[in-house]
Amino acid sequence: MLNIILFGPPGAGKGTQSERLIEKYNLYHISTGDLFRWHTKNDTELGQRVKEIINNGELVSDDITIAMLKEEVEKNPEASGFLFDGFPRTVDQAIALDNLMESLDSSIHAVIELKVTEDEVRQRIAKRKQLENRVDDASDKLDKRISEYFNKTVHVLPFYKSQDRLVTVNGIGDIENISKEIDKTVSALAV
Ligand code: ADP
Repeated sequence: MLNIILFGPPGAGKGTQSERLIEKYNLYHISTGDLFRWHTKNDTELGQRVKEIINNGELVSDDITIAMLKEEVEKNPEASGFLFDGFPRTVDQAIALDNLMESLDSSIHAVIELKVTEDEVRQRIAKRKQLENRVDDASDKLDKRISEYFNKTVHVLPFYKSQDRLVTVNGIGDIENISKEIDKTVSALAV
């Protein structure tokens, strides 16, 4: 199994880079943001519980998020690997993910951080807002999501860095070049 985490603020380009990675390395893509949006759109019980939190740009509780993630992983026992996108966002989620991977006799092989400044993120999302129609892209909610990342989520990085599992890639620049940088790490792991 090859298990990768793609890490970065909203608007870092995780979606674009995920698509390339899942195709090239045949990974099963798990985006907790997409899963939550699916639940809210389909008005499931879980969707009803998290709707307000998500629309406000706040983090869903670890209990709910971890349970949803676990279910998604366990639904795919045949996967040759996973690409996690938007998860973990807290150290408790990171620990839960390690335990989950261990239960599958596997582990997280690398955490790839797409490093993008707060200014760049704001500009990109302002553009995306014109193309997509995400309720949480409204400017006050957006501020919240960006500050959740730069105040809370970044604390996960030292956890992985101290274990030598963190690879930081500059997320500003040409999409092709960023892909190549990411690929250097992943191709070395995939052999
Ligand atoms: P962003 O574009 O901000 O990176 P995502 O699409 O990854 O957002 O997630 C959208 C929303 O879903 C987040 O603002 C948060 O409310 C919720 N969410 C997604 N992943 C997590 C997580 N790992 N822990 C807590 N909340 C999460």
